[in-house]
Amino acid sequence: MWIRDVARDIKERRVSGIIFQHEAEPFHNRPEDLARAKEMLAEALGEEWVTDDPVILIGYSRDQGPLPAQYPHLVVMPESTEEVAEVYRIANECRIDVIPMGTGLTTMALHIPMYGGIIMDLRRMDKILEVDGENMYMVIQPGVNYLAAQVEAQKVRCRVLNPSTAATAGVISNHAFCNINTLASKYGFGIDNIIDMTMVMPDGTILKTGPAAYGAVKAHVPGPGPDMAALCR
Ligand SMILES: Cc1cc2nc3c(=O)[nH]c(=O)nc-3n(C[C@H](O)[C@H](O)[C@H](O)COP(=O)(O)OP(=O)(O)OC[C@H]3O[C@@H](n4cnc5c(N)ncnc54)[C@H](O)[C@@H]3O)c2cc1C
Repeated sequence: MWIRDVARDIKERRVSGIIFQHEAEPFHNRPEDLARAKEMLAEALGEEWVTDDPVILIGYSRDQGPLPAQYPHLVVMPESTEEVAEVYRIANECRIDVIPMGTGLTTMALHIPMYGGIIMDLRRMDKILEVDGENMYMVIQPGVNYLAAQVEAQKVRCRVLNPSTAATAGVISNHAFCNINTLASKYGFGIDNIIDMTMVMPDGTILKTGPAAYGAVKAHVPGPGPDMAALCR
């Protein structure tokens, strides 16, 4: 298949002879809104981190599972929480769908955009911000994978509970997927071991949960009081 065929397929939302239709009343992902969003995103993130190049889009159109491919209209790679918030703010304003992507290893097409829109690839946010061996916690960005986390944990004589998945799987995206610690379930599901979260809401609001939200950065348990983190489990 030539690049021009891929470009035509993407334009027509056609994959292997099947035309994927948008919703009957397309209130979102409209071409004029996408063009506006692309410009605004390029300004917010820098042009090199926003693309609609068919050669790149095709790489995001499916995972290794059997489900059919579908292309995003745009792929963006933010570098910080503030940039993630900016992506959501712009997408919200322009009525474009956003799907965050860790490493795309689920085999269930969870990050494949049925109606197009934006795939927000988080692998540029791959920094381990803090490792505390004494209190046994780590602060990481969503693009950190199990290998990187494990290497740093072992330097302080700790280890990261890893489900029996690839070392290249994202730690946070695996937790978003509600990971199953097949080999370490006596410590609970991985999701039980998340203490604090910084979340970006669909309108771009940044929300902090857990004890760090009120300054108790070394605390091991949520609370006191209700914890918004539970809503994400
Ligand atoms: C051979 C094989 C064996 C595996 N074995 C196991 C196993 O034993 N245990 C296990 O738990 N898993 C297992 N997996 C699954 C694998 O670990 C998951 O696919 C992976 O961890 C999920 O992360 P991902 O980067 O693939 O997620 P993605 O596909 O990128 O994302 C998964 C979902 O989470 C959302 N998401 C991603 N990042 C974020 C974010 N930062 N914020 C909000 N939402 C987000 C996405 O939109 C998507 O809906 C296995 C996979 C393979 C291929």
